[in-house]
Amino acid sequence: MRPFVGLPTKPTYFKEEGAHLKKYVYFFGGGRAEGTGEMKDLLGGKGAGLAEMTRLGLPVPAGFTITTKACDYFFRHGRRYPRELRGQVEASLRKLEKVTGKRLGDERDPMLVSVRSGSARSMPGMMETILNLGLNDRSVEGLARSTRNPRFAWDAYRRFVQMYATVVIGLPKEELEHKLRALKEGLGAKQDTEVSAAGWQELVAAYKSYFREKTGRDFPTDPEEQLWGAIGAVFGSWMAEKAVTYRRVEKITGLLGTAVNVVQMVFGNRGEDSGTGVCFTRDPSTGERTFYGDFLVNAQGEDVVAGIRTPMHLDELAKRMPGIYRQLTRVRRILERHYRDMQDIEFTVEEGKLYLLQTRAGKRTPAATFQVAVDMANERLITRREAVQRVKPEDIERLFYPIIDPREAQSGLAARRLASGINAVPGAAVGRAVFTADDAEAWAARGEKVILVRRETSPEDVGGMFVAQGILTATGGKTSHAAVVARGWGKCCVVGAEQLDIDYAAKLMRANGRVVTQGDWITLDGSEGAVYEGQARLVAPEPPPAYHTLMSWCDQIRRLRVRTNADTPQDARKAREMGAEGIGLCRTEHMFFKDFEHPEQSVVRQRAIQEMILAGTPEARRRALDKLLPFQRRDFIGIFEAMDGLPVTIRLIDPPLHEFVPHDPATQRELAEQMGVKPSEVARRVERLREANPMLGHRGARLCITYPEILDMQVRAIIEAAIECQGRRIKVLPEIMHPLTLDKKELAILDQRTRRVADEVIGKAGVELRYLVGTMMELPRACLLADQVAEVAEFFSFGTNDLTQTVMGLSRDDAGRFLADYVDQAKAGIFRDDPFQTLDTEGVGMLMRWAVQRGRRTRPELKVGICGEHGGDAASVKFCHELGMDYVSASPFRVPIARLAAAQAVIEEEPPRKAKRRGARR
Ligand code: PEP
Ligand code: MG
Repeated sequence: MRPFVGLPTKPTYFKEEGAHLKKYVYFFGGGRAEGTGEMKDLLGGKGAGLAEMTRLGLPVPAGFTITTKACDYFFRHGRRYPRELRGQVEASLRKLEKVTGKRLGDERDPMLVSVRSGSARSMPGMMETILNLGLNDRSVEGLARSTRNPRFAWDAYRRFVQMYATVVIGLPKEELEHKLRALKEGLGAKQDTEVSAAGWQELVAAYKSYFREKTGRDFPTDPEEQLWGAIGAVFGSWMAEKAVTYRRVEKITGLLGTAVNVVQMVFGNRGEDSGTGVCFTRDPSTGERTFYGDFLVNAQGEDVVAGIRTPMHLDELAKRMPGIYRQLTRVRRILERHYRDMQDIEFTVEEGKLYLLQTRAGKRTPAATFQVAVDMANERLITRREAVQRVKPEDIERLFYPIIDPREAQSGLAARRLASGINAVPGAAVGRAVFTADDAEAWAARGEKVILVRRETSPEDVGGMFVAQGILTATGGKTSHAAVVARGWGKCCVVGAEQLDIDYAAKLMRANGRVVTQGDWITLDGSEGAVYEGQARLVAPEPPPAYHTLMSWCDQIRRLRVRTNADTPQDARKAREMGAEGIGLCRTEHMFFKDFEHPEQSVVRQRAIQEMILAGTPEARRRALDKLLPFQRRDFIGIFEAMDGLPVTIRLIDPPLHEFVPHDPATQRELAEQMGVKPSEVARRVERLREANPMLGHRGARLCITYPEILDMQVRAIIEAAIECQGRRIKVLPEIMHPLTLDKKELAILDQRTRRVADEVIGKAGVELRYLVGTMMELPRACLLADQVAEVAEFFSFGTNDLTQTVMGLSRDDAGRFLADYVDQAKAGIFRDDPFQTLDTEGVGMLMRWAVQRGRRTRPELKVGICGEHGGDAASVKFCHELGMDYVSASPFRVPIARLAAAQAVIEEEPPRKAKRRGARR
């Protein structure tokens, strides 16, 4: 019967869709590529880069990429491949043979391939690679004939057998290395280059018999069998311990797996007109627009990255191979313009011909991040908004990493110099020398600061590298494993310190006639590339000009104001330097205990506050408060001076009183004498202050409800300080804040008293002074009843430390003991982040949203801010922007993070603009 017209006889749409979903292999070569640079999630960074470079007409060896989806399938199905994969790989292999004009495993002129991993996020050295695949006893002869270089052919073969045996089969690398060393010793050869074809042939035989002995079977000779073994090993390496650790440390989640790139081999070890290198389109340390890179003549594959031989710089390459250098500079220009970012490019030169093996966004130091972003915006390669998006909060934090105090650098530091190396990652670090990654982890777990010292690092070392203050290696260049990994973390790193003689067995190193044993202190200067004995004094560095430029762009974009939490004039001044636009929280109780300007008077303050707390009557309390008043007034004057013209929120006393009183008998005796009572009476009153649950006890607004004299003194000190400053033409904008308020009624009592005291002082002085009275929002009840609270409060400031504690029922002082498990995705994984660091936007955030809306409904001009630790956390700042707050307040060093995050929040909520290639400003 004829089917109904209009309905297709076959469900072609679904079939096509299904077929598309089951495409696991993407080919590139001969100037065409099935994939694109946008397909990073599917093809991995390397695969996407190879496809894109092929499309750009750049010299890329042909090959194909097996997708991350195939890897995902592999792990979801008990390490089995999808059914379609075999046919697709075979078809791609045939295509590759057609493009290259050679056959895999051919006896006359074989095509060889590399099999490399590559996920969507760079994981340097974490996963596996197999080179020279396709060699066997027959094809090696073909390679020898076609290259007319038997030595080269057998060298390639021995490398392949070694890699295959260790990576695919899992035989111990040391055993094979040992055989290599034995061969060289037997031949009296120092360098690999001195070993002849016969020597390598002998080694291959030794490897193969070892293989047979260990596995009970012959080394695989069928190239396709070799290929499938290699594909499985690369997939398998995704779940290897070191890769899993790296992803955990780097917080890399949500990826499907690794792709596998099967690419025609090109050889950098074909003689003096060959080589292999890595270059950066700009200097990854400073961000300067200079072409930066390393090159090893007559070397293959990972030799540069492994850092075993110290390479030459690009300017030397320019002299030795000017044609190649010219081509590379062209590639540099094309790729930077195309990707609109600094690129890290791997390349190989085979007998004078250049091949590109990889391109990706180059890892860079924080200073370079700012420099590159600002330069590229000024070059109109990217917009200023894109430049702002290129910086991460960690870049800012790391920018302020310490350097060696320049005064110390002048005085006698040189005499302690142990060695010089390459300045791989700037900044300085001080720690105890340890020589294995395991020791680094063990020592760090005990709270020790360590410097990890290695001849070279390998991916197995990442755990130890991560916990170390700094990393020092005896070999390698700026693109060695140690340098690349450390740079990603912004961790101080010196590499290639060749004078170091490291003895792992004895756990010591010798340098410059001295011996440093495990546990001895050393100092690294990652900016100079120097290593010193002992502990140098470190200081915070000056940020580079590009930092200030980029931050000024942030300030133009953002809508949220950024204030700071500061309790002393020093902090206030520092915060202003960091760009703070006022103080969002001044914790007055922090001033009770220390006199920063006159430290010798600290004890007088302490005794006065203790006397106030332990006073038996309101009069006695007032007498003690009178002693405190001048101290507080002086502190506030200092802060108003530092914040001239900017708002200053001062919070009245908050913490439980027992935190201030002496618990040791000696101080109790001293205090008793001062108060004219018996020591036993002081002890009794201290004991009476003990609370079972002080965080929910007599603290916050409750203190001034029971002891309003404290409020009187603090408000008087604030207003008198403000009047004095105003008289000196300092612009003051005081905001008086009550902590831990429960509801409107409580706040109204405090508000009335605050205004009475303030207005009386102002009235007596006969001046005009505007001030605000508001509250912290730290309790669920206050948030729920925010509409009523706003009838009294002129501003809200969310104290999200306490609000998180009270909404979640998690003690901010004790939760550390178990929160790690709550955050660890491999354990309970209940939270994505520590809620005391990053706002719980779902729960706590829901209450905040409610409070902001309700508060503003009552009082549309209500000023709203946040002053908990979250005010300096980028993700939380973005949430505050979304809630329409007026400002966030962060500790001085986190002020720039808040400025950046506030700008990024604006950019991220804008509808995506059409990417303008060039000429766009904002
Ligand atoms: C808060 O609770 O978020 C806050 C800023 O106050 P404190 O940390 O002083 O309790
Ligand atoms: Mg609080």
